[in-house]
Amino acid sequence: MTAVTAHRRTARACTIGAGGIATTGTYLTVMLTPGPGLWLAAGLTTYVTVLLAWCAHRARTTHHREVEEADWEQRHERDQAPDSLTPCCLLAEHSRGAAHSHRCTDVEHRIPARLNRPWSS
Ligand SMILES: [Zn+2]
Repeated sequence: MTAVTAHRRTARACTIGAGGIATTGTYLTVMLTPGPGLWLAAGLTTYVTVLLAWCAHRARTTHHREVEEADWEQRHERDQAPDSLTPCCLLAEHSRGAAHSHRCTDVEHRIPARLNRPWSS
């Protein structure tokens, strides 16, 4: 069963929105008489369609990354020594060798989860 994350729901909503806007744009382009209103409607609907499609792509990519990280975390907790993902985490390109985060999949750069918990007395 495939996990459903908030990013997957966002991707679906953006895909449906892009399809709806593209359909509306096509309908308006066919129904409007040629003129400035037609070009405005066509340009605006094309822009919104491309924007929503890009948002859907980004959300889908983030969803797949979260699923891979969750799978990696489960294998890591079972001591199966999984290989790190590429890139190991979102901080990989900007950390300059420092520790990354508690979600990092590279064991050498990973911050232990207990350091992220609030201090207790
Ligand atoms: Zn990392």
